[in-house]
Amino acid sequence: MTHEVFNRLRDAYTTGVTKPLAWRRGQLNALCRMITENKQAIIDAVAADLGKPASETLLMEIDLVLSEANFVRRRMRWWSARHPKPMHWLLQPAVGWTINEPKGVVLIISPWNYPVLLSLEPMVDAIAAGNAVCLKPSELSPHISHLTAELIERYMDTSAIAVVEGGPEETTDLLAEPFDHIFYTGGGRVGRIVMKAASENLTPVTLELGGKSPCFVDGTVPLAATARRIAWGKFTNAGQTCVAPDYVLATPDVAQVLAERIALAVTEFYGEDPQASHSFARIINERHFDRLSRLLPQEGDADDPAGQIVCGGQTDRVDRYIAPTVLFGTSPDAPVMGEEIFGPILPVIVVQDAREAIEFINARSRPLAAYVFSRNPKTRGVFERDVNAGAIGYSLPLGHLISSRLPFGGTGESGMGAYHGKEGFRVFSHKKTVISKPLFPDTLQFIYPPFNDLRQKL
Ligand code: NAD
Repeated sequence: MTHEVFNRLRDAYTTGVTKPLAWRRGQLNALCRMITENKQAIIDAVAADLGKPASETLLMEIDLVLSEANFVRRRMRWWSARHPKPMHWLLQPAVGWTINEPKGVVLIISPWNYPVLLSLEPMVDAIAAGNAVCLKPSELSPHISHLTAELIERYMDTSAIAVVEGGPEETTDLLAEPFDHIFYTGGGRVGRIVMKAASENLTPVTLELGGKSPCFVDGTVPLAATARRIAWGKFTNAGQTCVAPDYVLATPDVAQVLAERIALAVTEFYGEDPQASHSFARIINERHFDRLSRLLPQEGDADDPAGQIVCGGQTDRVDRYIAPTVLFGTSPDAPVMGEEIFGPILPVIVVQDAREAIEFINARSRPLAAYVFSRNPKTRGVFERDVNAGAIGYSLPLGHLISSRLPFGGTGESGMGAYHGKEGFRVFSHKKTVISKPLFPDTLQFIYPPFNDLRQKL
């Protein structure tokens, strides 16, 4: 089945149907119409999979896809145009230019945590660049996966845009096809599988992976406002956000108070009982629920390396609910400081100063983002210069995800390549060089052999 889909897309691409700007514009318009006419159905499907609050789906998924589509739609003519380049004197008279041609038939493999955004935003960029697109949504969010397949079938040009649903088996079949680009968002384990498979066909890849994104807080910032920012970034989508703050490193003068302020912000946002709040999401499935539950400190164990619970800690497996949890005094060797947490658990760790925080961060895998809460320009500067991360956010977690003007991507274990806006258009394009020199006058006669003494001197 996957082979037939690939062949259909390849045939469509070969006919050139996806290349005209009119087709690209038409498909982007259709995609926007598809989203706006089915907002409620999309919200319901995401809620069925993740218990995600409607406002979160609207603000962090639907609106972001629509604004990306508007952004690239207005600029893709310019990005697709010829860009002339000055020529070397040796070639004069001559002209050269570049054009961005579509890569061809591209595969987008998306995860379950932002199932609308992370499927449709790369699709917007791929269509704007003139590609035929195959989307493989995550099987772990089946409601939105089915709905996306059904809507794309209804609204879009299915000769050149397809959705293949399924899990590892279908993905493995797809990865065997000679796509012209693979854009994968998800964990590093599967990222490695994708890259290995892509190498068989020499297919270029973009890997949007995860990692433990740290926050650093020192005594120069107002703690209540800082705590609210961190709590929002962490507990949105119940912590299942690739750029969510994973843990906090705080200086001794503020660490304990900060942890308590974050707990206060949790109550402000989700009330005394977050399980009853309409603003707090659920864990995607039992496997992740069990994984996260094991990271929590054991009740009554004062020496648990996970630290002490400042707030939260409650779990309900039937409801796939884990309370927004703040831990204090977590040991760097605790299991919760091993892998990316990807859930609503936030350890707060004491460090002496910014230098120690940077050493702590750089001793681990490169994170997708690092967030700095400090008014000290020197501290900010050192973080910007010395921390290896996909992005730096001052006083703002998650924010860079929201702009079409800022490239979004990781480094090292957190991924390779970036997208959003122009960067997304680039990812799905090949910059083709074109050069032209008239045959007459033939100035190349000055460099043709045989080489006489004069030319050798030159
Ligand atoms: P996931 O389980 O939904 O997997 C992602 C995709 O890989 C799915 O389409 C799935 O079908 C496919 N897949 C799973 N097993 C496979 C296999 N054996 N062979 C081939 N394909 C397979 O998503 P996930 O990995 O649980 O996502 C969570 C991770 O993604 C986190 O680490 C998170 O930080 C990261 N993430 C990164 C970004 C980003 O933009 N950088 C965004 C969201 C999530």
